[in-house]
Order: sequence, then C-alpha cells, then structure tokens
Amino acid sequence: SAVIVAIDGPAGTGKSSTSKAVAAALGLRYLDTGAQYRAITWWMITNGVDTADAAAIATASDKPAIVSGTDPAGPTITVDGEDVSAPIRTPEVSARVSAVSAVPEVRTRITGLQQAIAAAAETGIVVEGRDIGTTVLPDADLKIFLTASAEARAARRAGELKGADVEATRQALVKRDAADSGRATSPLAMAADAVEVDTTELTLQQVVDRVVALVEE
Ligand code: C5P
Repeated sequence: SAVIVAIDGPAGTGKSSTSKAVAAALGLRYLDTGAQYRAITWWMITNGVDTADAAAIATASDKPAIVSGTDPAGPTITVDGEDVSAPIRTPEVSARVSAVSAVPEVRTRITGLQQAIAAAAETGIVVEGRDIGTTVLPDADLKIFLTASAEARAARRAGELKGADVEATRQALVKRDAADSGRATSPLAMAADAVEVDTTELTLQQVVDRVVALVEE
C-alpha cells in the first residue's frame, strides 16, 4: 500500500535534498510544498498584487494554475503552463513568501492541491514542507522534523546560492522562520508524533539512511 512520509522543518535543514533522496531510494513520488507557496507568491508579484495586502492576496488566490511534477529525479513546477522553477528562488520571492503563505485562503487552496497529489500517488510519496505532519497529512505513516543550528543552515543555503553572504543569509532565514512559526494558520511546527533529526553534525547520506531505516521499521 502507499507509504506517506512527511518531512517538515525550517529553511536550510536539508529538507529538499533529503526528501528527494529518500523518495528515489524507496521508489516514491516527491512533492516540494515550499515551491508551491513560492509559485503563488511569484504570480502575485508578477501580476502587481501587493503582497502586504492580505485581502488582495485572498481575492487573487485561486487565479494561478499551479502544477507540480513529482518525479524525485526531476521535480517540476509550472504556473499557467510556464516553468517557474528558477524565478521562484529569487531573494525577492524568499522575502515575501511568508506573508503570502500566511493568508488563510492561500493555505486552503494549496493544502487542497497537496492532499490531491498525495492521494493520487499510488506507490506513495515523500512530502516536504512546514505543516505537512500537523495539517496537510496528519495520518502520514512517518513524520520527520529536521532541525539544524542557524549557522549550519545559513552556511548551506549561502553555499547553494553561490557567493551569497553567510551573515545576511542567516538573518533572512531567521526572519522567515520567525514569520513561518508565528502565523495563526498552520504554523511551522513539529507534530507530536514526529521524529526529530538534528542534521547539524550529520552528512546528507547519514540523514537519508536514518530516514530510510525509519520508513522500513
Ligand atoms: O521550503 P521553502 O523554504 O522553499 O518554503 C518557502 C516558504 O513557503 C516558507 O518559508 C513558508 O513561508 C512557506 N511554506 C509554508 N508551508 C509549507 C511549505 C512552505 O508556509 N508547507
């Protein structure tokens, strides 16, 4: 039967790399829910919707068509048919995504997409995000909550963004985590039945092996 794995945690803990590798190792599909929130944020910015105006965001929230491809070897994301995998990673989108994803209408819509994708994954799926174990898929077979020190997270993220300043990256991550943890609807949180894995001193392969072993238990 279909195995559902929820992997949550703050930015820079290795969620995407871990989730893709676990899905590939176990023959499961993979869904990056952060990419969906980034995609709707990108659409709001591109279409001139003020991301500080929650009412305007709510009104526009069902306009963009967001489609996620769930192959862990090459996940894709399109908005109204356009490949947005690069533009959703800009610092501007990163700075505004918490405000957009705090709007309840946005969460209701994107959560619905996520639940439909998980239900359609016949072999099972690894879903990564902030509220997967608590809200989106509360009946997941395994829930993982990844953590790491702010310094380790900033160093990893700055390394991915080649040449980015580590201290500026750390400050942006800490600010985004505070916003994601502080919102009223489905905040970033560890489910009561999640397994916490601190990745600060672990390699990616060690984290992947640990999660795969937990799925196979
Ligand atoms: O995972 P990533 O860092 O790309 O997520 C971008 C943002 O999307 C998060 O900072 C958060 O504001 C939002 N998000 C969310 N719920 C999720 C996944 C992401 O609110 N399940």
